[in-house]
Amino acid sequence: MSDEERVNDEGANEPENAETPLVLPGPPEEPQAEADDAEDGDTRPSPTVEAAVEPVVESAVEPIVEPAVEPVVESPAEPVTAAPAAPAEIDIPIPTVARPPLIAGNWKMNLDHLQAIAHVQKVAWSLKDVKHDFADVEVAVFPPFTDLRSVQTLLSADKLALRLGAQDVSPQGPGAFTGDIAAAFLAKLDVRYVIVGHSERRQGHGESSETVAAKAAAASAAGMVPVICVGETAEDLEAQGAAAVPLAQLEAALAGLPTGSEYVVAYEPVWAIGSGDPASPEQAQEVCRALRRRIAELRGPAEAAAIRLLYGGSVASQNIAGFMRQPDVDGALIGGASLDAAEFTRIVQFRKHVTA
Ligand code: PEP
Repeated sequence: MSDEERVNDEGANEPENAETPLVLPGPPEEPQAEADDAEDGDTRPSPTVEAAVEPVVESAVEPIVEPAVEPVVESPAEPVTAAPAAPAEIDIPIPTVARPPLIAGNWKMNLDHLQAIAHVQKVAWSLKDVKHDFADVEVAVFPPFTDLRSVQTLLSADKLALRLGAQDVSPQGPGAFTGDIAAAFLAKLDVRYVIVGHSERRQGHGESSETVAAKAAAASAAGMVPVICVGETAEDLEAQGAAAVPLAQLEAALAGLPTGSEYVVAYEPVWAIGSGDPASPEQAQEVCRALRRRIAELRGPAEAAAIRLLYGGSVASQNIAGFMRQPDVDGALIGGASLDAAEFTRIVQFRKHVTA
């Protein structure tokens, strides 16, 4: 069977593990919705709640308990507005739907365009060797801007099912903005996902939550899916617990996105990024659960049910299974480990490490 036939054949399959309790333990799941891109025959998964879904009270009858929110201490690099005080308990039932896992490789500022081509080929061969089912677990790579055209050409020529992502975007449309990259330019390169609000941009480039919101809105308006990064520093964790800053950052980032638009949220504790010291799966779950419930409050339960929440921060093949067992963790944003094709493949193949 040729590569093309294989991709098409795989894409036609339902995710064979769509009902595994490792992704969505608890009540029975609805079947995964059909892929969204019939125009080009793309059958990769797209989360949606269009399918009739019986509202199911998530986690039995556990009510939302708003975390105690103390005033956020704003760092000079990244001002954060504290989440407003909310009623102590709001019980919003969130429907249970299948959310296809997403494993995303953020290369950061690594690999020139020639190295990028070699790396994507390695990843593609490696995933082909293990017969990876892209309809079961979606995989995306986020090369530097200068690599995007080369990687796009390779993905298209070889009909590879890897998704293409960008690491940033300008909040502005095309015009006199030296050095910036407009969302329309990325969309033209078949970029599907755009990271916004990565801590390395919030901190290293002083990006405010308002800028992150404008970037998310620009990506979305151009037909791409923003991957909104949120996460607390070690100081935030100490002062306010894990969830307060991510919740405030999420709320700010959603301000410019129309309800119903597709986005992904990546919970990335800043202290865990590149440190070799990941959060515990339990902490990742606790914060992702709080994020999902905040989405339900702000934008309704259907959107909360559909949105994929990733964990990021020192993820490796040895620890991915623990994160993917959590009911509110739908994938991972991988930095350093995404530069090693064999290791990235092992992470993508997390189902093989996960036992019930
Ligand atoms: C990241 O940069 O988003 C990241 C998660 O990095 P790492 O996996 O290297 O911690």
